Amino acid sequence: MSPLHPLIIVGAGPAGYTAGLYAARGGLEALLVGLPGGTGMATDWVENFPALHEGISGFDLVDRMRQQAEAAGLQVKMAEVSRISLIGDAFSLETDAGPLTASTVIVATGAFPALLGVPGEDEFRGKGVSYCATCDGPLFRGKRLLVVGGGDSAVQEALFLAKLASQVTLVHRRDKLRATQCLQDLAFRTDNISIAWNSILLRIEGTNHVQSVVLKDVNSGREHTLEMDGVFLYVGLRPNSSLLSGLVALDPIGAILTDEQMAASVPGLFAAGDVRSASLRQYITACADGAIAAMSAIHCLQRHGSK
Ligand code: NAP
Repeated sequence: MSPLHPLIIVGAGPAGYTAGLYAARGGLEALLVGLPGGTGMATDWVENFPALHEGISGFDLVDRMRQQAEAAGLQVKMAEVSRISLIGDAFSLETDAGPLTASTVIVATGAFPALLGVPGEDEFRGKGVSYCATCDGPLFRGKRLLVVGGGDSAVQEALFLAKLASQVTLVHRRDKLRATQCLQDLAFRTDNISIAWNSILLRIEGTNHVQSVVLKDVNSGREHTLEMDGVFLYVGLRPNSSLLSGLVALDPIGAILTDEQMAASVPGLFAAGDVRSASLRQYITACADGAIAAMSAIHCLQRHGSK
């Protein structure tokens, strides 16, 4: 039987490391379990984190958070958690490095990009279809790229890709973008970004690699083919909550429902960041969630006399 940890934080992104920082500074022997990566680290450039007005890459921002939390005393274990269950009043965590048990758990596992589900998406994944501009953008220098979506992710990553590609076509199903206004303004001012309004991607075509896409104008119903070298999809995020398998209440997209103290529907379990049901998903809100979740875990342990 593994030792009972007072708090295990699952997830190595902004929410997880901030929870770790606050837990460690609060005197708790907290263990963070997770693997580097995720949408937080994959973001090319972050310009809206307060005080960092010069901007910072997502990778560097999260890595600084890791360094700060570890310096405060957070223990970090690089492992993947596949399942969390409740045994008596303790949580049991199945990981690829063996089982762990904890009195309280903060789930900060983030989210993954939603799939669009169009023909060709599966077939050409890694052969021109991507969900990560930072990872795959450099493969498309001087090429023609399609970006699908109208939110912050699509517009921000289209801006990044426009620095590498010869031409970026942003396809959005409506006549108005959802993205933050300043990102929209930048995109409108970028010469090699064009926007296909009121359009959807019907299918992706090619032989061994993406060669063309078929778009449909939703108003006229007209379909047309564009020659294309790559397709980047940003049609929303899906929370990484499957490791909870029925343990807590989720919203319709699978995000963990919490109260304002980040408490989920099972006592002792908290959620923070993109995996939590929330109207705004930003670095700053993930960090705030993490701080609140850590303090809530400390109070929970104090109430039950385990700290
Ligand atoms: P999002 O805000 O949910 O936007 C998804 C976009 O994809 C929307 O424009 C949506 O269209 C479109 N879409 C969804 N399903 C579609 C479909 N089946 N076919 C065609 N288009 C479809 O997702 P996100 O952009 O990944 O952002 C997720 C969260 O992270 C947001 O809270 C966002 O603010 C945050 N974020 C922030 C930053 C930043 O601050 N710099 C960067 C990235 C992400 P509709 O608009 O018509 O619904």
